[in-house]
Amino acid sequence: MLPFNRPVLILLLAVAAAVFGIRQWTSSRPQELRESRILMDTVVEITVIGAQGGAARKAVEAAFREMERIEALTSFFREGSDPRRLAAVTGAELAPETAEIIALGLKVSAASGGAFDMTLGRLKEVWKIEGDPPRVPEPEEIREALVGSGADALRLEGRRLTKKLARTSVDLGGIAKGYAIDGAIEVLRRAGIRHAVVNAGGDLRLLGDRNGQPWRIAVQHPRQRDRFLGRLLIADLAVVTSGDYERFFEKDGVRYHHLFDPRTGYPARASQSVTVLAETAMLADALATAAFVLGPQEGLALLERFPGVEGLIVGSDGRPATTAGFEKRIEWR
Ligand code: ADP
Ligand code: MG
Repeated sequence: MLPFNRPVLILLLAVAAAVFGIRQWTSSRPQELRESRILMDTVVEITVIGAQGGAARKAVEAAFREMERIEALTSFFREGSDPRRLAAVTGAELAPETAEIIALGLKVSAASGGAFDMTLGRLKEVWKIEGDPPRVPEPEEIREALVGSGADALRLEGRRLTKKLARTSVDLGGIAKGYAIDGAIEVLRRAGIRHAVVNAGGDLRLLGDRNGQPWRIAVQHPRQRDRFLGRLLIADLAVVTSGDYERFFEKDGVRYHHLFDPRTGYPARASQSVTVLAETAMLADALATAAFVLGPQEGLALLERFPGVEGLIVGSDGRPATTAGFEKRIEWR
């Protein structure tokens, strides 16, 4: 006599088969190593595929350390960072990393007609978008915060940065995260890692492919939290999104967010979100912020001017518009 009746036995066998099946399935998938840290005001997740053990863990640790180092150099909130050292003076010698960031930022600034602007530090302070409680500043405060800002307010010669006025406040919030992601990827690559993702709160860069397959990257819907617009099938690229839905508050039915139109000093109104593909996360980061401010028409024209760059802009009406190459890489859902 069997200890179980027939239906129970069949059920047990089915469970055993399923467990065995799952085991097989997981063991035939490439090995994954995944770690997260809170860095640059967001959750940073590093995933390494096909490498394991002490060496891979060490590489991931070194990549996180590199991001921390870049944050310490570039964040206004860090004592002794370059933007901090620049706060009270008209000029200073920058760390090579900061000079590299500002040099690219100035290019994007020029190409975007000033839509990308690294001198909005005072404006950011006045708005306190993530403050508690947040508030809408008076027009006079906004006018005052814009004094000394603008695309022509920074001059870089080698590593020497000169500001238009001592009060000009440098904010690298629209570009430094991208640079840090690139730094982490470079550390992984030099450690011999061939397949990895460095994901900083949805802004990410892919190293290689996913063991012979493209990575599948979901693009967030800007108005519905649990939906995505589509899936990108890509490898060896950076994907960066700027949206009005991550850091914002609402007052009297108006959404106030952290991406400012330098012409007005108010949150830019032409877009809901922008996703940019580029070889480096730094370029994608700066272009996403710039294109967000410009909106679908001018924004796409900006992206088209950069070789190897593709993008998607969701306009204020919720309609998505893309560059030709982006359309080829996305599976809409
Ligand atoms: P996130 O940091 O949320 O990923 P972004 O990369 O788009 O988003 O950067 C937003 C940050 O960029 C703001 O918090 C601010 O520091 C800075 N910023 C805001 N408006 C501009 C602008 N027009 N040009 C350059 N930087 C900006
Ligand atoms: Mg950006």
